[in-house]
Amino acid sequence: MNITKIDLEKLYQSLNKKHFQGKLPYCTIRWYRKYTETVASIKESTRTIKLNPTYHTKRGINELKDTLLHEMIHLLLAENGKKEYHFHGKEFKKIAKRIGVKV
Ligand SMILES: [Zn+2]
Repeated sequence: MNITKIDLEKLYQSLNKKHFQGKLPYCTIRWYRKYTETVASIKESTRTIKLNPTYHTKRGINELKDTLLHEMIHLLLAENGKKEYHFHGKEFKKIAKRIGVKV
């Protein structure tokens, strides 16, 4: 399976429903070929997630879901007005544990 052909918005919405009660707002998600070391990133202010296609092609769908969920936790914290939304602090870890995603 070519993972870069996956409908990222659909995947995002299904994870949103499953783990966040569908509360997260629309988010732009795209593959970013310039990433070599970086796995993924999120810019909370513009609600944009960028994913490394090489990394995720090698690792498969479950890793992609994990990566997306990780970034979605950042987004949730930002949307809820948490100051430390971009870090992996207490609140982040609490949600990650609940969802079952590694930090
Ligand atoms: Zn993070």
